[in-house]
Amino acid sequence: MNDCLFCKIIKGEIPSKKLYEDDDIIAFYDIDPKAPVHFLVIPKKHIENIMEAGKEDERLLGVLLARAASLAQETGCEDRGGRFVINCKEDGAQSVNHLHVHVLGGRALGWPPG
Ligand code: AMP
Repeated sequence: MNDCLFCKIIKGEIPSKKLYEDDDIIAFYDIDPKAPVHFLVIPKKHIENIMEAGKEDERLLGVLLARAASLAQETGCEDRGGRFVINCKEDGAQSVNHLHVHVLGGRALGWPPG
């Protein structure tokens, strides 16, 4: 998708503070962090949101979550944990329409979300 912000980050057309990259996914720090640790893990394939992922994307979804978890361990969340968030569409407060997992940690997070 030419006008997708995260596709532009994947292509390097918009700079990002990259944490990880492989053939399937990239991870980079959120530009407006909500916790001391806050990064995003996204598939390179443009999928609008979690509900748009198809049967053919099931392996990719597994990779996305597994890498989110291992990167959380590598960024200081291994002892106290954190939060793994996937916002979806209007009611989920999704602002970028390219599937992404937020990983937040480094402080105690409240529940339920507002
Ligand atoms: P969401 O509201 O779940 O769609 O989350 C989108 C996230 O992308 C927000 O937390 C933004 O702060 C973040 N974001 C927007 N633009 C950039 C950017 N250029 N680099 C890194 N993160 C970004």
